[in-house]
Amino acid sequence: MPETALDRFLRYVRIETTSKDGVERVPSTPGQLEFGALLANELRAMGAEDVFQDEHGYVTATIPDRRPAAERAARPIPVMGWIAHLDTAPDTSGKNVNPKLIDYKGGPIRLESGAEIPESEGLHSCIGDLLVVTDGTTLLGADDKSGVAAIMTAADRLLNGGVEGVPYPHGKIRIAFTPDEEVGRGADFFDVKKFGADFAYTVDGELPGEINKETFSAEQLRLAVTGVDIHPGTAKGVMVNASRALAGFAAELPADRAPESTEGRQPYIHLCSMTGDVASAEAHIILRAFTDAEMDENRQILDELIERRKEATPGSVWSAEYKKQYPNMAEGLKGHPEILTRLEEAVRRAGAEPVWKPIRGGTDGSRLTEMGLPTPNLFTGGNNFHAVTEWLSVNKMEIAVQTLLNLASLVADL
Ligand SMILES: [Zn+2]
Repeated sequence: MPETALDRFLRYVRIETTSKDGVERVPSTPGQLEFGALLANELRAMGAEDVFQDEHGYVTATIPDRRPAAERAARPIPVMGWIAHLDTAPDTSGKNVNPKLIDYKGGPIRLESGAEIPESEGLHSCIGDLLVVTDGTTLLGADDKSGVAAIMTAADRLLNGGVEGVPYPHGKIRIAFTPDEEVGRGADFFDVKKFGADFAYTVDGELPGEINKETFSAEQLRLAVTGVDIHPGTAKGVMVNASRALAGFAAELPADRAPESTEGRQPYIHLCSMTGDVASAEAHIILRAFTDAEMDENRQILDELIERRKEATPGSVWSAEYKKQYPNMAEGLKGHPEILTRLEEAVRRAGAEPVWKPIRGGTDGSRLTEMGLPTPNLFTGGNNFHAVTEWLSVNKMEIAVQTLLNLASLVADL
C-alpha cells in the first residue's frame, strides 16, 4: 500500500521547522534542513530524478516525462512546477506538535488545552470529514506541511502508479520545497533558471476550491524620530521626547485603514511595532494594497501625518524610509491566461468549485511571478493558519492531491 497524504502529514508535522525573523542566514532555523533532507530521501526512494538539497535548504526534484524520446520531440509538453514551503510561522510554537484525529460531526471543537475552534463557515463545510487538530498548545503546521504532503503524494502516484486516476502520459514536473516563506524570504535564493519550469503552482492555500492569482502589493516604512534627552528636573524648554512624538503619530493612524477593520480588497496600514526612549524612537509599519492608486494613498496618508506630528513637536527630527517588499501577483500573470484556466478546470475535475480569492498577504508566488516564473496558488485543505486552532481536513487535502494530478493531465492535453 502506498503511503497516504495523511500518513505523510502526520510524520512531517513532528519535525519542528518554525522559521525565525531577523536572521541573516537562510534557512533561518536548522529544522528546515532536517525536514528537507528527509523529503529529499523520500523523493529518491520513490524514484524522482535530480533530487537536490542546496546550501539554503531548497529541495528540488524532477518527475520525468517518460514517453519515448521521439514522442517527446514530436509533442513537447510544457514543464510544470509544484512548490510548497518547509517552514511554519514564528507567530505560534511549532515544537512538539501533537496532532489529533477527529471524525467531525459539526459544532465547535474543544482542544485538549481548553482552547476552542469555533464553527466557522469553513469548518461547517467539513462536516463528515476526518480532521487533524492540535492539542491546543502549538500550531498544526498544515501551513504548509499539508501542501508538502499533497505534492509528495501526487509525485509518488505519478512515479509509481498503483492508484486509479493517475494520468499517463504527463510532461516533466519539477518540485521545489522552499525555506523561510513565513519570514518573507522563500524566494530569496530560488534559482528560477535552474528550476527550469515554464510555470508553477504553490500549494499553500486554505480550503477547496479557493485559488489565488492576486496578492497584495507590499511596502514597509521604517519611521525614526530623534528627540533631545536631558535630566527631567531641568527639562523645561529643552527636552524633546521622541517616544511621546511617535506615540502621537501612532494614535492618529486612521482606524478605518487598520488590518483589524479592513477585509476583502480594502488596503491597510499596519503598525507592527514601536520602540523608543526620550532620545530616539522607531516604528515599523507595513502598507498593503491591491492597486497602485491605493498604495499611493497609503503613502500619502502617512506622509501627511508625519508632517503634522513633526510640526506638533518642535525640535524633533523625523526620517521615513519606505521599501518595496513584493508586487501584486496579478500583474505578472496577465499574459498567461492558460495557467489560470487550467487550474480552474483541474479543481472542477477534482469535484470542487473553483473560487478566485485575493490574498491579503503575499506568497512565494508573488515574488516568483515577479522573477519570471508565473505561479498562482491553490488550496491545501487546512485552515486557521498560524494559530493553535489551526486544523486540516484530510478529505480536502486529498482534493488538493487530485487537483495536482489533474493539472498533470491538463498540461499534457488529456
Ligand atoms: Zn504558507
